[in-house]
Amino acid sequence: MFQSKERFKQAFLEKLQTLRGVTLEGASDSDKYIALSNLVREYISKNWAATNNTYLERGEKQIYYFSIEFLLGRLLHSNLLNIDQNHVVRDALQELDIDLARLEEKEPDAGLGNGGLGRLAACFLDSMASLNLPGHGCGIRYKYGLFEQKIVNGYQVELPDNWLQDGNVWEYRKPEKSVEVRFGGYVREAVAEGVRLFIHEGYEAIRAVPYDMPVVGYQNKTVNTLRLWSAEAAPQDFDFSSFNRGEYLKAIEYKYSVEAISEILYPDDSYQEGQKLRLKQQYFFVSAGIQSIVRRYKRKNGSVYDFEDKIAIHINDTHPALAVPELMRILMDDEGLGWDEAWRITSNTISYTNHTVLPEALEKWPVEMFKELLPRIYMIVHEINERFCRELWDKYPGDWDRIARMAIVANGYVHMAHLAIVGSDHVNGVAHIHTEILKKQVMRNFYELSPHKFSNKTNGITHRRWLLKANPLLAKLITDTIGASWITFPGDLVRLEHYAGDAAWRDNVRKVKLANKNRLAQYIKRKYDITINPASIFDVHVKRIHAYKRQLLNVFHIMDLYNRLRVNPDLDVMPRTFIFGGKSAPGYFMAKRTIKLINTLAEMVNQDQSIGDKLKVVFMENYGVSLAEMIIPAADISEQISTASKEASGTGNMKFMMNGAITLGTLDGANIEIRNAVGAENFISFGLTAEQVLSYYAHGGYNAWDVYNSDERIQVIMDQLVNLFFPVAKEEFRTFYDTLLHSNDEFFVLQDFASYVEAQNRVSKLYQNEEAWGRMAAANIAHSGQFSSDKTIMEYAIGIWNVKPVVVK
Ligand SMILES: *Cc1c(COP(=O)(O)O)cnc(C)c1O
Repeated sequence: MFQSKERFKQAFLEKLQTLRGVTLEGASDSDKYIALSNLVREYISKNWAATNNTYLERGEKQIYYFSIEFLLGRLLHSNLLNIDQNHVVRDALQELDIDLARLEEKEPDAGLGNGGLGRLAACFLDSMASLNLPGHGCGIRYKYGLFEQKIVNGYQVELPDNWLQDGNVWEYRKPEKSVEVRFGGYVREAVAEGVRLFIHEGYEAIRAVPYDMPVVGYQNKTVNTLRLWSAEAAPQDFDFSSFNRGEYLKAIEYKYSVEAISEILYPDDSYQEGQKLRLKQQYFFVSAGIQSIVRRYKRKNGSVYDFEDKIAIHINDTHPALAVPELMRILMDDEGLGWDEAWRITSNTISYTNHTVLPEALEKWPVEMFKELLPRIYMIVHEINERFCRELWDKYPGDWDRIARMAIVANGYVHMAHLAIVGSDHVNGVAHIHTEILKKQVMRNFYELSPHKFSNKTNGITHRRWLLKANPLLAKLITDTIGASWITFPGDLVRLEHYAGDAAWRDNVRKVKLANKNRLAQYIKRKYDITINPASIFDVHVKRIHAYKRQLLNVFHIMDLYNRLRVNPDLDVMPRTFIFGGKSAPGYFMAKRTIKLINTLAEMVNQDQSIGDKLKVVFMENYGVSLAEMIIPAADISEQISTASKEASGTGNMKFMMNGAITLGTLDGANIEIRNAVGAENFISFGLTAEQVLSYYAHGGYNAWDVYNSDERIQVIMDQLVNLFFPVAKEEFRTFYDTLLHSNDEFFVLQDFASYVEAQNRVSKLYQNEEAWGRMAAANIAHSGQFSSDKTIMEYAIGIWNVKPVVVK
């Protein structure tokens, strides 16, 4: 793009003037950020147009990835890397005395997601574009992303994330591509020329306006599209020129009530919020997305003939499961197809990924709410259910229990996972163990009915963001060692295995890690005025706060360690810095108290002079993509300690591994595959297996009091929660005591405690052996290539979507 630094500087200075009306001397960092990112945007636009033209001309199958979340993070740096302009731009700016990294920080994180699910969608977009696959995203342009977390007096406080406040360089509003989405009303049946018609009337029409964001492939010419929909009042409903004063105010009120649909991201992770507005969001983006796909398809092909051969629609969890009845509706009501043909197309077009087995996360909507909001869609769901139950009746005559368990509409609810499975040709889990649990337990009846539908697609992460971008020092060392092919073929990282035995190379890896730890330590000093020792073990637990993720188990180990150090300050342990980060859903009491507990413990430990610098605890506020990019490269230990069977896959675990941290983990989700990849000797595991956990759930036999009574360390810790050991109100942490003992510890925190402490002791010993640790770190980096989302996406492309690369020239 900028063949030389001089050309770039000239273009940049010109942009500052034309776009911001300033010269370099008068320009703020924001001016510079906007000028630079607009230059990048213009460059990308050319390839974007070329990509769209190629797709239209070639007519190859397209894949549309529907997700209610896309957790993108910042885009300037990754776009610069992908268009191969990072060095030229960085060096040219330096000559103008501008620090590129500082400009990058002016960009707000696109935080349109809660955690793993939304980040997965973002990694998938990156991989599809980088593999030349014609794959596009479809979601919601939330005005407010996931709340900003502040810690006040140890408690989480939520602030709105007004990420669009200063504009978004990376979006293109496309008002001419708006579509109408209809809510409420009733359905009138009529017959015309012998055909039964269903006419939706009395509805409220919402205008869905697309904002397109370019998704840039790595050093190719592919630029795919992420289309995010924004809700606006339909013009005919918001014509204030015709209103008198009273109606004018009503019109304004109406406008806001419509815009509410795309106003906020629901802040719940792995939990279904049963609010009507949420259901509205789901139908809103699904309907808009499918309408625009059908419209584009028909513009090219004239009819919907062959649709399923040219279009694949993937639904990321059940939030977009209304794609099934919505595509049916369009094919029947708008395109005039009969049921059977519409069903053949729909069920061959849609595929579904399950993300969780937690019962509180499985979506179900009350029939009454559903019917009132989406009368025509409900009719179709009802009919799908009728036909499905009839099929079950033929196959399992008299087995009412089974049919009731599998029905889409049952006991006054619409069960979205059932709708998604029945309406899809492929259903996948996100790690081997998770898929097995789906097949054997959660979705067993569906698996028995159609085993061919089910497959596993283990999650992945884009190594371009999580290694190349987040850890430039390690990326450079790797490229200097084995060449740059790993950036395109991440499997090539395995060549590093050869260097694990090379002491000089290991020392270079260690120095990179230390540099990253120093950088994080400086940040923590600046932001929290806490001094941490970069030579200590950085033991990192960052992810959403959730009972099943067991931040509490980590806390109990720290309390035990602290108790030991207080008795014996000379205890021979490796100094440790425990780093936590993560948001709690605002309404999730236990998770919020966990944050308070971590902060209370941190304050107590950090100011205790008697233990020297052997133990420090830091809670980093507002965990998100950008913070993760700084923390993960600095980690020695990756805490992945969910109750076995509960974490479907995890992707944080993969990011840490790729950056040379050692996993301290349960045999859960993708941890198991990480352990298989690196070898058991390079992974520190502990705790109950999924089989044991599931057996306890099925047959009982676990008694938390027994563990309490037999382990003095646990007695001390549990008592400290309620006996004024912490300088807080007496009942502040009672909830933990009650859920662990009186409610029998659903997540086996007490049961796994001894095993976890023992594993932590192994960590201490291993870390003191520099060679052993270096070999472990090297093995982890070398085998992380198989967790690139490039590999995952190839598996989806071949096994589910049947789409092929389309190279843009
Ligand atoms: C990767 C990622 C997650 C998912 O982490 P898990 O440990 O798999 O739960 C959540 N939030 C952010 C910001 C991430 O980057």
